[in-house]
Amino acid sequence: MKSSIMTLAVTRQHRVAACAVAGFILCVVLATLPFAGFAEPHVAAFLPLFAMAVFMTEGLTAYLLWTQFMITRGPFLAALAGAYAYTSVTVAIQLLVFPGVFTTTGLLGTGAQGAVWIWAFWHGGSPLLILAALLVRRRFPVPVAHARTRVVGLALVGGPVCLSLLLCSLAVHAEALLPKLIDAQTYQRLAVSPSGLRIAVVSACTLLYLVVTTRLRTLLDLWLGVALFAGLGDVVVTLVANSRFSIGWYVARLESVLASSTVLGVLIWEISHLYRELHAANARLSEYASRDGLTGIFNRRFFEERYPAALAEANAAQRTLSILMVDIDHFKRFNDTRGHLRGDECLGAVAGALQASLRRSADFVARFGGEEFVVVLPDCGHEMATRLAEILHAAVARLAVAAPFTEAGRVSVSIGVATSQPHAPVPAGELLAQADTALYCAKEAGRDRVTAWQDAPFALRSMQVY
Ligand code: GH3
Ligand code: MG
Ligand code: MG
Repeated sequence: MKSSIMTLAVTRQHRVAACAVAGFILCVVLATLPFAGFAEPHVAAFLPLFAMAVFMTEGLTAYLLWTQFMITRGPFLAALAGAYAYTSVTVAIQLLVFPGVFTTTGLLGTGAQGAVWIWAFWHGGSPLLILAALLVRRRFPVPVAHARTRVVGLALVGGPVCLSLLLCSLAVHAEALLPKLIDAQTYQRLAVSPSGLRIAVVSACTLLYLVVTTRLRTLLDLWLGVALFAGLGDVVVTLVANSRFSIGWYVARLESVLASSTVLGVLIWEISHLYRELHAANARLSEYASRDGLTGIFNRRFFEERYPAALAEANAAQRTLSILMVDIDHFKRFNDTRGHLRGDECLGAVAGALQASLRRSADFVARFGGEEFVVVLPDCGHEMATRLAEILHAAVARLAVAAPFTEAGRVSVSIGVATSQPHAPVPAGELLAQADTALYCAKEAGRDRVTAWQDAPFALRSMQVY
């Protein structure tokens, strides 16, 4: 089972979906650019909604990447979790200080430049940290030592979080040290400043580096590429828009949501994909655990689990249930004369013949042990069970496996039949003992035959020890 989006190869389906999302982003950006600066109504609820969405998706992505790091110990995942944690914290602080959200000037005593500088640190820092994570992957491709996992992880996630707090403090409390980027609602200075250009270049370079070095071959790289592309679109539209609450400003915020949710989307997809794989592996494992290795039919363990349950169900529903004990005759001599390998082949052939003779889905045959088999027949009365036992007996005879030391000259089986009646239900152990007694009678009577418990001599029936 493949365990991570780090290793899951890109399928055609994912490539098509990623191309569709990237194409959509490109169309939206191109369609917005000519009208980016057009002023739109000031929707007060928009920024908190958008910021909460980004905060949540980035935070969840960081958390899921962190959990994957704790399992796989790949330092890249922790570094990437750090990049997402950085963005999540930065967005949360921007929400607090954004003018008009909590107070007209923003919380924390921020000045007019605070929010826009936080935007710059967010959009510049986020791709830079993703680039750093990609470099970490190149430089340290192997998992970190078990004992150092937590320390390395905390450093790789805690570092970017501290960096975010530091930069946001700078933007909020020391904005005088930073160049002016916004006048009233217009941040034209940002678009023409080196900072604006640097942010766009960092986004483009990180995307380019990812594409060139990875060719977007794994799922994570593919969707990280889409996220970076959306982030670049966000930066370009924001810079062209020049002012808050313009068409470009609104569209750029939506691009931010897209940028932050693509990797989360693929992580969620991966979890459900792994869940499906786990379910299938579990089913395979339990199927494997319930099969007999030599004959391929159910094993004793399965019989001991299912038979009492099937009998309890039959008793509760006032239905009959029959069981057949099947034993290969003179099998020791078969082994002695034809060898154990032939003996094994014979066991497989007999098991196959018994299995193939059952028609109803509730019926099953299991290897009871050695050369003995047990057949469970829910909702099957005495007569029908005896008839079916004759069919199984004939099916083994038809195999015509040579056994010269027997009277018939071929391998045969003896079968004991016992039935639990609805008016007189018997416990599981007792019914099994009845079938065993019937089998004993079949052996005593000369083998190669079917005997029902009801037909066993009274002395034997009353002698049973359960
Ligand atoms: P009866 O007709 O009374 O049942 O005689 P029998 O020889 O079949 O019964 P017995 O209990 O004396 O011997 C069973 C033999 O089955 C002995 C053992 O070597 C053989 N056997 C049990 N399990 C396997 C197996 O997995 N492979 C092979 N080849 N032989 C097995
Ligand atoms: Mg035998
Ligand atoms: Mg036996």
